[in-house]
Amino acid sequence: AKYIVGLTGGIGSGKTTVANLFAELGITLVDADIVAREVVALGSSGLEQIKAHFGDKICLASGELNRAALREIIFSDKSQLEWLNNLLHPLIRQTMLQQVQIADSEYVILVVPLLFENGLDRLVNTTLVVDVSPELQVSRTSQRDNVAPTQVEHIINSQISREKRLQQADAVINNQGELAELQSQVALLHDKYLAQASLYET
Ligand code: ATP
Repeated sequence: AKYIVGLTGGIGSGKTTVANLFAELGITLVDADIVAREVVALGSSGLEQIKAHFGDKICLASGELNRAALREIIFSDKSQLEWLNNLLHPLIRQTMLQQVQIADSEYVILVVPLLFENGLDRLVNTTLVVDVSPELQVSRTSQRDNVAPTQVEHIINSQISREKRLQQADAVINNQGELAELQSQVALLHDKYLAQASLYET
């Protein structure tokens, strides 16, 4: 089995930025957000099951999932939300682990925004948290997505608290500073993970 590093952090903390630095060092990334789209892509068994449950009206003319329509249903009906989660969560989990096992790097970075919230930390060998202040989360995210600061604050409040996330972290990358300061932190962790992965056999 592969040695898996679970990378997480709040919205706009810099997960993608950090993950890309590991990728530059040759490490394979498996991204939960990408997998979550793949399992309901056109032609997937996930999409077929959603269609069988909600009817063809859940699709756009193109045959792709109508996310807005699905969101509306599950927003107003808890039992449908539960049905969808019961379908998607195991599917996402399995697909992530498949991608991990076919990766050919020394270890794999699993990027999961809600790693602790969804209990996915149980799937990984070690956790890495990207940490920034809420103020920077708000300013960087609202600038990146061109959205109101209050919208970002709302999402921050729906996620696990900074304190709880840090409590559960095996390692922390501080992203308060310049992008260049990330690189040296990533390099040190990379060496540590290479050593741990080499001890972790089969
Ligand atoms: P999300 O949870 O929304 O997916 P994320 O955790 O992946 O976000 P990034 O997209 O990597 O976060 O970073 C958020 C924004 O902040 C991006 O626009 C990124 O370019 C910028 N950013 C990240 N780190 C720094 C930094 N150290 N200095 C300045 N800008 C940064």
